Amino acid sequence: MRFAVLPAALLFTLSAMSTPIEAGEVSILRAERVITDAASGRVQPATIVVREGRIESVLAGKDAEVPSKDGDTVKTFIWDANTTLLPGLIDSHVHLTGNPAEPFWQNTVETPERATATGVRNAQRTVQAGFTTVRDLGAPGQAGFALRDAINAGDVPGPRMLSAGIMISIVGGHGDLTGFRPQVIAALDGQNTCTGAVQCAQRVRELSRAGADVIKFAATGGVLSQQNRGFGQHFTDEEMNAIVSTAHQLGLKVASHAHGARGIEAAARAGVDSVEHGTYVDEAAVRAMTASGSFLVPTLSPTIAYRENLPKGLYTKVVEAKIRTRLEATGKNIAAARKAGLKIAFGTDAGVSEHGRNAEEMPLMVQYGGMSPQDVLVSATRTAAELLGLENEIGRIAPGYSADVIAVFGNPLEDVAALQRDRIQFVMVRGVPMPERAAND
Ligand SMILES: [Zn+2]
Repeated sequence: MRFAVLPAALLFTLSAMSTPIEAGEVSILRAERVITDAASGRVQPATIVVREGRIESVLAGKDAEVPSKDGDTVKTFIWDANTTLLPGLIDSHVHLTGNPAEPFWQNTVETPERATATGVRNAQRTVQAGFTTVRDLGAPGQAGFALRDAINAGDVPGPRMLSAGIMISIVGGHGDLTGFRPQVIAALDGQNTCTGAVQCAQRVRELSRAGADVIKFAATGGVLSQQNRGFGQHFTDEEMNAIVSTAHQLGLKVASHAHGARGIEAAARAGVDSVEHGTYVDEAAVRAMTASGSFLVPTLSPTIAYRENLPKGLYTKVVEAKIRTRLEATGKNIAAARKAGLKIAFGTDAGVSEHGRNAEEMPLMVQYGGMSPQDVLVSATRTAAELLGLENEIGRIAPGYSADVIAVFGNPLEDVAALQRDRIQFVMVRGVPMPERAAND
């Protein structure tokens, strides 16, 4: 163990996953360096009292006196001055049920049930990397919902997970199966394409019925799909309006995959809550996003995977050409968003990039987007929480908030290297400490 802990806490850690939080369970976290709110830029000594999964109080000083109540089971965690405690990180764009570097025909041989099991491992890797909440924006069949429910039940360790289920797409678009014989495509139809406002509204309602927490649709073509119908607007305005208004009527936010400027602009005009990627954004598209209040989720991490995998000859010709174009545009989305004052919510597209390496997005945001380490941390805590509609639940260490807390070596307000996976010492989600990462994982 890399933190000082009372013996009872060790038992608690090892049995945490199968043990739901019980009445009177209290954790006391004491540290010299605590960031309760990344936006404040302050690091202070504090004692955090967690009761039954929620933060009860944040007391000044590492050794603050904590009044105990009869019947409480108290575990105490103490860190030295090399360690900083901060709110758990939030990734607004992942695909836990998929792995990078899979051949394009993977989903013709792999069942959604198998993908769920893939997600179990990736959920653990993600949470052990300090990400205590993720928004999963595309999984086959019911795999995303099943994984989310297993995590919520405490059956498997993982981050709090919001799941979109399957991504809505035009016929032959980024979310449809393409590149195969018509008979193969027909047999594997994911029931996620739509044409016309009526059918698009129906798809949203079907996803809502199945348990979606958020709706995801592909407003433009994508990099890794075999289709090459460009990065322009795919759905008509009428179809996008139907998707967004139906989702909002049901209380669901909408995330729009969009690379090309005209698709971004149309999605913003329809009122999407976030533009994912936004790679080839231009001034008109930014103006539309400003008017709609859409967040940008920049997802620079796939470029890491592309650079690693291009020499391996993994991609088909049509995909390789799209990858090379995308690499040239890295960071233009953040620069444009910052200039216009758009909200930037942290998101990686892990699944295209490797799970557990989510924080590798951060140095890219600094290098290509010109963001400061504090800007990056705000984007991965408060801003992402706001995009997810959970700003009163996560993204800060404050009384009443979920006890989602991580401990890292160093000061993440000064250097994003402090948030990389090998610097994560401790992760707590909803008051439950997560199992430590194995040395070889
Ligand atoms: Zn994605």
